[in-house]
Amino acid sequence: MVHKTEALFRDDAYLTAAEATVVAINERGGIILDRTIFYATSGGQPGDTGTLERADGSRIAIAATITGETKDEIIHVPAPEQPVPEIGKRVKLAIDWERRHLLMRMHAACHLLTVVCPFPITGAAVSEDDSRVDFDAPDAGFTKEDVTAGLMKLVRADHPIFIRLITDEELAANPGLVKSKNVRPPLGTGKIRLVCIGDNASVDSQPCGGTHVKSTGEISEIHIGKIEKKGRENRRFRIRFGPMPVA
Ligand SMILES: [Zn+2]
Repeated sequence: MVHKTEALFRDDAYLTAAEATVVAINERGGIILDRTIFYATSGGQPGDTGTLERADGSRIAIAATITGETKDEIIHVPAPEQPVPEIGKRVKLAIDWERRHLLMRMHAACHLLTVVCPFPITGAAVSEDDSRVDFDAPDAGFTKEDVTAGLMKLVRADHPIFIRLITDEELAANPGLVKSKNVRPPLGTGKIRLVCIGDNASVDSQPCGGTHVKSTGEISEIHIGKIEKKGRENRRFRIRFGPMPVA
């Protein structure tokens, strides 16, 4: 049976705690709840870690969060040798917020990179200390310094970041919104989630299901650590936190 988990992080990425009911435990011990604040690995963003607390105060450490048979089913994967919660019981959820906030800052930074480098995206991976975006781009003579300056200009402008829901038809009428070369947003669900940057989405908008900070200023200082050549037409950009190290 496939369950549909209410994904609270989609409406509010800043929820750090919530309560939920245990709906099922799958054959591998994965815990399925009726609702969750734990983001499940997808779109290059890793899933959350954290804890589920039972009524008696005992805690279950969650080592990973993944999707099940469908994207709507979210599975909380316990660390080894954790107590197993009972179906139907309430649990208190808490995510590792320090880690998630780093991921939200990094994920938003990846969006800014696609503004500074407007090329088709062939891959991306977000992590707490280093993220990468791969572009289908010829050698256009970018330097780490130029791209970093472009990113920091957007960070300092402190543009708002917000979600707008559009229909499949609106997306079809604006094919330029999709920057990914290989991944298409899921159609047929009625609504597509656009992540918009700037007043009236003046800086950028693109379909994305991940979690992001609410303004570009909250990303704070970042730099391009490396630009790698991956094949003739592919460039891999690595984003890191903090100022660019002095060579
Ligand atoms: Zn995103």
